[in-house]
Amino acid sequence: MKFIDEFRDGAVAKTLADKIALQVQTGQRYCFMEFCGGHTHAISRYGLTDLLPPNVQMVHGPGCPVCVLPIGRIDMAIGLALLNKVILCTYGDTLRVPASKGLSLQKARAHGGDIRMVYSTLDALQVARDNPQREVVFFAIGFETTTPPTALAILQAHRESLANFSVLCCHVLTPAAITHILESPEVRQWGTVPLDGFIGPAHVSTVIGSRPYECFAEKYQKPVVIAGFEPLDVMQAVLMLVRQVNEGRSEVENEFTRAVSRDGNQKAQSRMAEVFELRAEFEWRGLSMVPQSALMIREGYGTFDAERRFNLVYESVPDNKACECGAILRGVKRPSDCKIFGTVCTPENPIGSCMVSSEGACAAHYSYGRFKDTTHE
Ligand code: SF4
Repeated sequence: MKFIDEFRDGAVAKTLADKIALQVQTGQRYCFMEFCGGHTHAISRYGLTDLLPPNVQMVHGPGCPVCVLPIGRIDMAIGLALLNKVILCTYGDTLRVPASKGLSLQKARAHGGDIRMVYSTLDALQVARDNPQREVVFFAIGFETTTPPTALAILQAHRESLANFSVLCCHVLTPAAITHILESPEVRQWGTVPLDGFIGPAHVSTVIGSRPYECFAEKYQKPVVIAGFEPLDVMQAVLMLVRQVNEGRSEVENEFTRAVSRDGNQKAQSRMAEVFELRAEFEWRGLSMVPQSALMIREGYGTFDAERRFNLVYESVPDNKACECGAILRGVKRPSDCKIFGTVCTPENPIGSCMVSSEGACAAHYSYGRFKDTTHE
């Protein structure tokens, strides 16, 4: 298949691995964070760490949409379904994320909540049109990739004067999270990981472009290589990062030129800017409260804001004590460091959010049997 098969070619992967091995200098550390869950998945699925020299370490980042969703936000959605009796629509992975009191959206459905999985915001709009006598709320999660469709749904609802449709907006922003990882004292409760560079997100960058990462290269002197989600994309990005480290450069480079430009998708950005504004702060699972890291619906579209419509107030809820998701999302620990990984906590019975989606580090490690990583030793 075009743009897939040629990026999964084992012989080319071997050539890239040889090139990385030739570039890597003895005694030099190359510790790179792949921000995105899509890259974590590719690294686990294709065993890419096995192709890298021991001093090239990959650290998983917090870029998995359901993993960073705090329990308090899922509790809000469950409350809307069980107490306010709305029809709650959301994407599939969100249904299984553990919430308070042993619940999840899926379990809340068994308690009588009208909770429906949708494939797109258009489906949620259709549910609202089909049920004019019911309140319909779309539980919107994800990074900049899934934000434009939510903006378009709100604009469409506005055009149609769809009075029974609203959105519980939990969209988060990638650059703010990277900044937080690099400089926040709060996240140091889990310790810090020395990072020598980042593999930048693929899909997010198609929307925001490569320009927002330039400050990391300049201010923090961290190289960034934006990469696609196929194994050869990741290997090529590692090679580019190794070269930058060797040459003492800190630049933003774009490996994913087939989809990402410097300015990104400006049409999508303008729709997002029309509908959303920055929240002062937002709690991320694993990163605590992160200033200006999420979006809220502008007052002009406030009638479509479920938080305003139902007078919702956010309450922070601590994670399960046994769960190491916070440290894993911060890159300080690995899934196998968690005492209940693969025993009590499995994809069938996730205790923490990192075991839910295939993009979660714990689910990726579990699914591809990567229990004995030697990095971080
Ligand atoms: S294995 Fe489960 S409980 Fe442990 S950190 Fe991962 S998601 Fe949390």
